[in-house]
Formats: sequence, C-alpha cells, structure tokens
Amino acid sequence: MNTGIVFSIEEFSVYDGPGIRTTVFLKGCPMRCNWCHNPEGLEARIQVVKSPNGCLHCGACEAVCEHKDGCIACGKCIAVCPRNLIRFSGTRYTVPELTERLLKNADYLRQAGGGVTFSGGECLMQADFLMEMAASLKGKVHIAIQTCGYAPTEKFLKVLSVVDYVMYDLKVMDRALAVRYTGCDNRLILENFQKLSESGVPFVVRVPLIPGVTDTVENLSEIAERVQQSAALGVELLPYNKMAGSKYALIGKAYDPLFDEKREPNIDTAIFCEKGIAVKVM
Ligand code: SF4
Ligand code: SF4
Repeated sequence: MNTGIVFSIEEFSVYDGPGIRTTVFLKGCPMRCNWCHNPEGLEARIQVVKSPNGCLHCGACEAVCEHKDGCIACGKCIAVCPRNLIRFSGTRYTVPELTERLLKNADYLRQAGGGVTFSGGECLMQADFLMEMAASLKGKVHIAIQTCGYAPTEKFLKVLSVVDYVMYDLKVMDRALAVRYTGCDNRLILENFQKLSESGVPFVVRVPLIPGVTDTVENLSEIAERVQQSAALGVELLPYNKMAGSKYALIGKAYDPLFDEKREPNIDTAIFCEKGIAVKVM
C-alpha cells in the first residue's frame, strides 16, 4: 500500500471547493511558479524547516548536525533548539490513517455541502496515494482536487475517474513565458485541460492574478477563449498574495519575484463576463 506525505491539513476551508471543506496539502510540485506562496510544498519529501524569527544564534543546531553538506531530516537539531524554531515539514500517512482522520468530520462536511479537497504542492505528484485515498473515501464524502494539471495524462485520467470535482489552474498561456515564470512548458497542461473538459467531471478554472504576468489582457483573453470552448462551470480569479515571500526563509531560500510585486493585479472580470463565463474573485 502506498503512503503519502502531507504538509498541512486545514479544517473548515471555504476557498477550496464547494461548501465547507477539509483540505489536505500533499507535498511535492513539478512546477516552480515564481510567485509560489507555499514553498514548503515544493519538495516531495519530509524536510526540516527553521524559522528565523527569534533565533538566539546559539549554534546548538549546527553543533549537533552530522550532515551539513545535505540535510537528511534526521531531526537531531529539532531536539536541541531552545526556542523550538525547528520542525519537520511533512508527515507520512497510510491510507487508513488519513481516511480515519478525514472521515471524523464527514457528517458535518456533508451537511455543509462540502467535503475533502486534495491540494498541494501538486496533489498529482502523489497520484498513486491520491487514487488510493479517493477510493477509500468514495461515497462517504465529496472529493475534490486542486491541480496545475502538469502530470502524465494516463495518471491524470485515472485520478479523474475517482474524484467528484476539479479546480484546474490555467496560469500562463504563452509557452515561452510559461517556461520563464513557472519552470514548465504548458503543452501538457493544455492537453490535460482538454481531457478534463471531455471527462464529464465538473470543474472550475482557477487563475492566479500575478501583476504583469498572468493578469495581462492577452493572457486573460486567451484563458477566456479556452474556458469558453470547454465544459468549465466558471472561472475563479485569485489575486496575488502579497505575503508570498514570507515563508521562503523557512526553507533557507530567498524569494526572488521576476515581476513588480508592489503593483496591484488587474482584476479584469469583464473579459470573462463578455463571453458569458461565470467569474468569481476569491
Ligand atoms: S535534521 Fe538537522 S541535524 Fe539532521 S541532518 Fe538536517 S540539519 Fe542536520
Ligand atoms: S538551536 Fe535554535 S536558537 Fe540556536 S541557532 Fe539553532 S535555530 Fe537558532
């Protein structure tokens, strides 16, 4: 049986699909979006993260470490930090363990028109675990996924066959710009989008509004065009999170936006409304 690595479970979420939901954030993402606000989710392995706030610079964590050239997440430094600034990021779950945890609130979630959402990172990075989880939850609670769609089509189709609802990201439509800002060619994403549209699974398109990158008239028009030709229920616009950079210190990396993060994003709902597309700003 597969196990999965989860870096967060959020209860009572109203932003991750219909109704009130429990959202499971699976670790690992194949993309490297320049505006990512959840860098803890990028690596598909358990990590040790360190908060820089309140550090005494006592050196205890360094003194105990035997793997300075590459952390092996042994956890020795966690035990010696007098300020409890160091922790594991990522918990390994078996399917029965996570199922039990998620079904505790199942009655309430059902009554609230909600369910469980698998997000990330990118939940399709752990597609085998995700499929086993969905099979285990099927019929007991509504199951949604939030995905960038960058996954082998065969795996994507298998996941689609076991979920009830999809939130699918369309970010950068120009191929060269997609590579520059997300680290990935967008052809696979657009091919999988077509498969999703033909699958019969209800879905919405999510668009992060990044100033000067995804919020341009050209990019949004191209997204609107695709959405209009698809079976999408609508579009959800997510304005840029100005706190995006705040978590990079945890993983020991610098946040380096390639866009003007001080500029307000262009929240252009008209581009979608004109085409008769239901649009919501999140
Ligand atoms: S968990 Fe801490 S002590 Fe262990 S290898 Fe990583 S940095 Fe070193
Ligand atoms: S042990 Fe904790 S307080 Fe001391 S240097 Fe490391 S992170 Fe800072």
